Amino acid sequence: MICVFSKLHLLAYRSDVTKTPPPPVTRSTSCCTPVHLSRVLMELRDLLRFRHCSRTIYTLVYPAGPAWLRCPVCGQVVRLSLTEAPVRIRTPITDGHRAACSFLITSQHGAAGFSELNRSELHVGISNSEGSVFSYTESGIQCQLVGWEQSIIIPLVAPGNDSLCFRTVWDKHLRKFSHLNTWTADRFQEEREFGSCCYGFALSFINHVMRSEGSEPISRECFTSQYVLPRMEVASRYLSVHQHICLHGYYSTSESQGPGTTQSLVF
Ligand SMILES: [Zn+2]
Repeated sequence: MICVFSKLHLLAYRSDVTKTPPPPVTRSTSCCTPVHLSRVLMELRDLLRFRHCSRTIYTLVYPAGPAWLRCPVCGQVVRLSLTEAPVRIRTPITDGHRAACSFLITSQHGAAGFSELNRSELHVGISNSEGSVFSYTESGIQCQLVGWEQSIIIPLVAPGNDSLCFRTVWDKHLRKFSHLNTWTADRFQEEREFGSCCYGFALSFINHVMRSEGSEPISRECFTSQYVLPRMEVASRYLSVHQHICLHGYYSTSESQGPGTTQSLVF
């Protein structure tokens, strides 16, 4: 059993929340529903974006694909100048166990759970320097070496700060913090009333480290709107395009629409 938080809670931090009201909370979408993480992993590829036929076109990147690029709209081999070179868009959903000292978001339904159309709940955790993920669940704190292979990753340590010494301190902080009485299984119920107990654990740890470094803590609103939501939105857009390409071979904007239009996606 794990602790999850619902995208409904995230929606509360969106500036356009009044334009797109969240669906009513039901038992199946409540953050209180215990679930198991799915081990079924969707195969995700990087995207390739280029302009041809007056459109912006997205295809998937295949490592062993042909050396030339063929436009899926007109069927011609694409010859582009250097300034028009295709852009590779890395998948925003990657292996959380390979992301040291990060805030991770995963879903009970694998990557598909990040889609805005998917009502599944999310689960968050904090990785240590070796890719073990600590998260707060109904059974107390879990430390997992598997299960976070498809995560949205928010790095918490600047590359310049990423010394062996800092990593050692990080791991020590995380180990000690996860043993606090606040995060025991029997206190899970009272934490759950706030609607996002795994989120509370992860954010409290971030603020614990920030205080120990002499920095001001970050509010839930600020962290959610500045760091979590933008990445969730990118992941959702990426998934929409990826799914469209898997079904139809490619995704493109309409003929008259160029890079400045709303259909040219920002990743
Ligand atoms: Zn073309």
